[in-house]
Amino acid sequence: MKLIIVLSFLSCFLLNNANGSFVTPKKDLWERHATSGCAYYLKKKLTWSYSEADVMCSYQPAFGTWISCIYDTLQDLDFRDNNVTFDKTLMEVRSTCQRQDEKFKDFSLSSYYEALNNATKYIQNSTDGLKDLTYPVSVDKFSRFAYSNAYHAFAHNLDASNRYGVLLYVYFAIVFVIAGLCNFLDHSGINVKIFKRRLIQKIRGKIMIPTLFGYHADYVGFNKVVIGLVPSRLESTILFGYSLLHLIFLSKNYVTDNHNIFYKTKLIQYLKLIADRAGILAFAHFPLIVLFSTRNNLIELLTDFKYTTFVAFHKWIGRTMVIDAMVHSLCYLLQVILTNALGYAIRARFFQFGIFATCVATCIVIFSFGYFRLYYYETFLYGHIILAILFFYSCWKHVERFGWKEWVISSIFLWIAERLLRIFRLVIFGFPKAKLKLIDIDLVKVTIKKHDIRYWSMRPGQYAFAYFMSPVIFWQSHPFTVLDDGNELIIVLRVKKGATSHLFKKLIANNGAIEMRVSLEGPYGSSAPVYHSDDILLLAGGSGVPGPLAHLINLVNENKLDLVQSKKSIKFVIATRGKKILQAYQNEIMKLKDVGLDIELYVTNAPISVDENDSINPVDFHDTVSTCIPLLEESDILEKFKQFMTIKRGRPDIEAILEKSIRQGKSLSVLCCGAPLFVDVTRDMTAMKILQHPDSAISYYEEFQCW
Ligand SMILES: Cc1cc2nc3c(=O)[nH]c(=O)nc-3n(C[C@H](O)[C@H](O)[C@H](O)COP(=O)(O)OP(=O)(O)OC[C@H]3O[C@@H](n4cnc5c(N)ncnc54)[C@H](O)[C@@H]3O)c2cc1C
Repeated sequence: MKLIIVLSFLSCFLLNNANGSFVTPKKDLWERHATSGCAYYLKKKLTWSYSEADVMCSYQPAFGTWISCIYDTLQDLDFRDNNVTFDKTLMEVRSTCQRQDEKFKDFSLSSYYEALNNATKYIQNSTDGLKDLTYPVSVDKFSRFAYSNAYHAFAHNLDASNRYGVLLYVYFAIVFVIAGLCNFLDHSGINVKIFKRRLIQKIRGKIMIPTLFGYHADYVGFNKVVIGLVPSRLESTILFGYSLLHLIFLSKNYVTDNHNIFYKTKLIQYLKLIADRAGILAFAHFPLIVLFSTRNNLIELLTDFKYTTFVAFHKWIGRTMVIDAMVHSLCYLLQVILTNALGYAIRARFFQFGIFATCVATCIVIFSFGYFRLYYYETFLYGHIILAILFFYSCWKHVERFGWKEWVISSIFLWIAERLLRIFRLVIFGFPKAKLKLIDIDLVKVTIKKHDIRYWSMRPGQYAFAYFMSPVIFWQSHPFTVLDDGNELIIVLRVKKGATSHLFKKLIANNGAIEMRVSLEGPYGSSAPVYHSDDILLLAGGSGVPGPLAHLINLVNENKLDLVQSKKSIKFVIATRGKKILQAYQNEIMKLKDVGLDIELYVTNAPISVDENDSINPVDFHDTVSTCIPLLEESDILEKFKQFMTIKRGRPDIEAILEKSIRQGKSLSVLCCGAPLFVDVTRDMTAMKILQHPDSAISYYEEFQCW
């Protein structure tokens, strides 16, 4: 994290010290518009008796006309700043002339004023279309303004677009400061008092906690095709604010040139302005998109927002960026068609790269749909990175000569810095030997002795990305909840069809147990501050046992589970389809035996959920697995657990459990982890209970994540 801060400062330093070579300089400068406007007018309307290409700079009457036009324009615009702005026009004039001939590079300020005074002496009034002039002429006020304003309209839009891009960051900064404040209140326990205010309860129950339409953790689909994940209501609200702001920024504050000096029609002018606005806004999104994809994120630490939330922002902001890119491309395409310049444009390198970048961005969006992430995660991931590299490269080439490269540079910088930080975290953890054991037909338990690792600690509910040092999968990283029981780090992984399946096959070939070097990158995620409230309700569904269990183990280890003294009521509800997951964690669950907790175990007969669709087919391996491991009889484990928990058949009635756990005027922390449908239902039920019990302070924490 510190490294990222240092690198960010370094990048700012580099950007600020590059004398404008990285940062796009301000474009809307009247000294420039006056210079360019007058030059354009002279070229279009007047001819001189001298016909060389450098007439404007070499032929005194033309040069005098030009600079007196510049001077008068600035006077018209009220730049009475002791000629400071006029002095700046020398730079513009010099660089324009230098493009004609290097000899103009030493043109001094005194010669500049001399030329102006000389021109003023001999100047005459001009008539449009005057030919073969041999003396300086005065450009009329209307033309002076019209021509300069044409440049201003164009440049103002470029600066405004960049400014609006920065304002999007301000919006998110405000959101994160508010979230950080709420997070502080949550961790300090002050929230318990604040939550009891009715308005706050309404906001929490209606906006902050519930799902949008009943789905958040669970994928939504159409016609059995998985499309993606729906942001929660809070995430949707933040994204709605951003989209609204973005729409306003896209459509607001255009200065137009009423005389259409550069364009054939008003439509073409509008196309140009909208294209530029959309293009620059698209670029301004880049660092934001990269920032929200990073695992090592300072904002996550500040706000306790889950990585899922950042990934939701990453996706929706990315999609908006692609819409901007499409608007940019379509407007330019229409513009070149309407001006009969398509042939020329198609041959231009920057145009080709622009079209290519838009196509690549569209592919990124299409191949990021839920279907690809769910069924081909690794292919999606590496495809995503390769397409992103191609996209940034083509964007760079697209604007190489125009500017706005700082958005690309800072994105690449952020991406590389974060990758380095990941490697740093891996090195800190090291590559200790872990024991992998087949627990059941599709469950593997990974145990790492804590004395093999130093400088590493884990809080309950956190997760880490595991790297298994097997030649076929060592580069892959997969997130798993890690349970730290004091002496060991424990991961129980359900066998799916990718890396986990490879481990499973290896285990089968080795009698169900192997040793392998493993590294963990993390820990990531926050630990829910459940202990501040009067009562705690922990709900675990299926594979979601380790998160809530880790909280309880932590409370046991820290001797905080003195229920009599603390007057806390702690309820732990486990709902599981089979009992395999209980077998995996039985040693840890047994630690709760003498604590006197209220534990309810529901053994359900639920159908296979989407979450488990991608698991290996247990039937295929049943016989092989049975010979590898002595499967524990299910009844054995239930007998053991019966001594300190209530065992029930069927699904838990979440609403009834919640209702029973709420005490009037008291605070309750609800922590839930489990199958997507299970957490979505609990989330919505808790939101409903918050509205029904405004006198109680109910907090909701979810440990399930999916992206
Ligand atoms: C925060 C978090 C904690 C998790 N904790 C556990 C746990 O304790 N035990 C457990 O069994 N599973 C856990 N999972 C799920 C676990 O990460 C996947 O099952 C695992 O990555 C599957 O690997 P695979 O290559 O065999 O998957 P595949 O068969 O390729 O894919 C199976 C599913 O896993 C998802 N997946 C695959 N790779 C990743 C990845 N790198 N990042 C995110 N999702 C991925 C895919 O989208 C797909 O839905 C957790 C996931 C998250 C996000």
